[in-house]
Amino acid sequence: MTTAAPELVTKMECETPEFLRAQRQLDELAVSMGLASELHQRLRYPKRALIVTIPVRMDDGLVKTFTGYRVHHDVTLGPAKGGIRFHPEVDMGEVSALAMLMTWKCALMGLPYGGAKGGVRCEPWNLSMGEKERMTRRYTSEIINFIGPDKDIPAPDMYTNEQTMAWIMDTYSINVGHTVPSVVTGKPISIGGSLGRHEATGRGVAYCARRAVKHLNWTKDAPEVVIQGFGNVGSITAKYLHNAGYKVVGVSDVHGGIYNAKGIDIPSALAYAQEHGTLANFKDTEPVNNQELLELPCDILIPAALGNQVNASNMERIKCKILVEGANGPTSPEADLYLHENGVMVVPDILANAGGVTVSYFEWVQGLMQLFWTEEEVNTRLETIMGKACDKVFALSQERNLRTRMAALWLGVSTIAEAKRLRGLYP
Ligand code: NAD
Repeated sequence: MTTAAPELVTKMECETPEFLRAQRQLDELAVSMGLASELHQRLRYPKRALIVTIPVRMDDGLVKTFTGYRVHHDVTLGPAKGGIRFHPEVDMGEVSALAMLMTWKCALMGLPYGGAKGGVRCEPWNLSMGEKERMTRRYTSEIINFIGPDKDIPAPDMYTNEQTMAWIMDTYSINVGHTVPSVVTGKPISIGGSLGRHEATGRGVAYCARRAVKHLNWTKDAPEVVIQGFGNVGSITAKYLHNAGYKVVGVSDVHGGIYNAKGIDIPSALAYAQEHGTLANFKDTEPVNNQELLELPCDILIPAALGNQVNASNMERIKCKILVEGANGPTSPEADLYLHENGVMVVPDILANAGGVTVSYFEWVQGLMQLFWTEEEVNTRLETIMGKACDKVFALSQERNLRTRMAALWLGVSTIAEAKRLRGLYP
């Protein structure tokens, strides 16, 4: 039995516009998939959600309280998996929407995980290192019964990093009385992190771009690439595509972008950005702002910074033929439809940036086995998994004439729905 809008049996505090957008995406898909109504309803909301208050002694001696969240959207196939972000816009709706996307992403990649997300509402750029550490440790202790290698495995996200993961791992370990490396992924290598994890998302994005080019049977020697964002994902994607012979003509960071129609010397740009903290005034380039950058003529556009960058206000001026989503949610639903109708191939976020969670999975497995792989092993396994997922998404999209985003979601949702159907409903 199918239904366009299942009767609401529940209503939650997470129903912000962002969460409702993720839910509508599932609703649209449920109709075209013919998803059974009872499964559809179970997938529309998080399985469980926790809100915590985090008192932190600040450097001036006063105590400030922060709000933290951790959400498990689904745990049908295994422990919940997803990042922790520190940002002023973190709320229950945002983490619930991102947890839902993590469920579909892990299922699409064939990883034995459900989806989770968490965060603390704060301005991380205004916190000292000591304040950040105390906030992270207290947040960890408040959610300690929610996480664990068999329950929920956090990872870095916006404004959290390897150091944050090391503090979480240490706090958890101290509390349970022994060292538990597999409670988090994205840790420093010296305490159980995986080789290749740092580069994994950018490597995966670059791999997807090359796979899309192959899928479209392009014969062009050096496809032209524009990348928004020059952080972990953007800069590593640029490096790999440059090494593969692609011509990266535009890149940007929060301060603005640079352009050279003949191609930017990416290795030198990486060194320059590291030294100067900005790309501005890099040799042989002209400045462009972030809006102009998105609209530059190119073959492949890779938004790898923020959400909602390609939207109703600029979609008609986007000139790429392939759009690869390095960031989470960089394309609005209207723009996604418009680009599809205008022949632009979109490689959706749950596929394009899934290299990170895939190598996180490798890190978790290595930690549980206490057997560590070489970087080559990690990268080969990553490319095998990403290649398979790309093939499945591109084939389903053609077979059913679906937008690539819908094909990717279809594969994720149907995997979870089938597992739920087989496990049945308790009691
Ligand atoms: P990062 O903090 O390392 O880099 C972000 C980059 O975006 C920086 O270069 C920053 O200057 C730039 N930026 C910020 N605001 C901007 C603006 N207004 N215009 C243009 N550029 C701007 O973050 P990251 O890890 O590279 O993550 C980027 C995106 O990829 C996020 O959406 C994140 O959720 C997503 N993502 C990251 C990973 C991962 O493993 N790092 C995995 C999956 C998805």
